[in-house]
Amino acid sequence: MPLKSLPNKAPELTAFEGGYLVSPNGGWRSVRPVINMNLCVHCGQCYLYCPDGTISPELCLDYNFCKGCGICAKMCKRGAITMQKEADYA
Ligand code: SF4
Ligand code: SF4
Repeated sequence: MPLKSLPNKAPELTAFEGGYLVSPNGGWRSVRPVINMNLCVHCGQCYLYCPDGTISPELCLDYNFCKGCGICAKMCKRGAITMQKEADYA
């Protein structure tokens, strides 16, 4: 479900629209965020706070740019985002 209440243009916080970064991470991420859509209430906090803009308003994660900082998981008050070992996805 898209975040219909969000503006088309990303707000001027630390976050940017998905695709803002141009250089993928160097493959050093050790954990990745995974969203449990059964818990998600589409509040948009993860989208707003991701410093690299790797979460789209539709809550798609671009793992090419995610650095695994865990801010999104910390900001999710629903506990819908867990940081999972990257090795489990190799
Ligand atoms: S912060 Fe959590 S509940 Fe809110 S949109 Fe992101 S994953 Fe969903
Ligand atoms: S782990 Fe960090 S970089 Fe990756 S989506 Fe979450 S906030 Fe953004």
